[in-house]
Formats: sequence, structure tokens, C-alpha cells
Amino acid sequence: MPDLIHVEPAPEARIALARWAVAQTPKVTTVGPNTFAIPADLFPSVPEEALTGSRVDGHRYVSPDEEASVSTEEGTAEAELTGVAQPEGFRVATPGEALPEEAYGSDSTSLPAAEPASQQEASVGPEPDPKAEEGAEYPCPFCDRPFASDRGRATHVRRAHPEREL
Ligand SMILES: [Zn+2]
Repeated sequence: MPDLIHVEPAPEARIALARWAVAQTPKVTTVGPNTFAIPADLFPSVPEEALTGSRVDGHRYVSPDEEASVSTEEGTAEAELTGVAQPEGFRVATPGEALPEEAYGSDSTSLPAAEPASQQEASVGPEPDPKAEEGAEYPCPFCDRPFASDRGRATHVRRAHPEREL
């Protein structure tokens, strides 16, 4: 009795394997609902399409071509897995994109808060000072209005707080 190789064809390989099996002399027989017993000396003549994805003696059949593609797939899967743990996976901010509201610090409201002070100032007397919008590096010690430069603040103090001029 020749050695038998048991092949469980994949669903897509089943028809091809069955066609091949019945074309042999003597016919290759099945030993189970989906298991073909193929004589070892006939096995090399089984067409590739009848073996792809099948189980041969309990092991998944891998053709030379498929072996190459499988290793590629594994490499891809590995890259995807490591990609999850890479730092850019945790990037929360993209340059040029608006940050969510909670991304701003609590001190970020200092500039908007300066607006009422500016309007308050206007009611006291007309005093246009464009530098007041630029930053808060030099806050006025008397009304906390921010100024971008010491000079701008001095001008403001001289005009808005003449009695308290530095
Ligand atoms: Zn002031």
C-alpha cells in the first residue's frame, strides 16, 4: 500500500482537487467528508490551484509563491501593530489645525478679558493705542491693561492716569 497524503482542500480548491482526483487511474478516493487520500507518488502532480489554502496531512499547504506573499502580509501586520504604539499615534495636535477648547490653558483668557478694560478706558477718554492688542508683556499697574512695550504703557499711563504718572 503506497503512502497516502491526506488533503483537506480549501473551499475554493475543492472542485479543482476533485476534478484532479477523478482523473487519476486508479481514482483518488476520499477518506472523509472533505479529505482526499492521495498516494504520495501522485502528490507532485496535484495542480497548484487544488492545494492552495488546503490542509495537507493536517498542515496548511503553502506554495512557494504564497509563502512569499504570506511573509509580506506578516510584515504588513507587524508594521500596523507597531504603528499603534508609535508616538505619532498619540499625537493630539496637528500644526495648522485648531486646538480643542480644553487644549488652552486657563491663562489663555487673559487677552479676551482685556477687552472690557479697553472699552472702559474709552469711556474715560479717547485713547487709541494699537499696541494694547499685541501682547500683555507690560500690564498697566493701575488698570491692568496689557501693553506690548514699556513705551506703549508709559504713553498710556501718561494719558489715562495723569495723576499717577511714573
Ligand atoms: Zn492704565
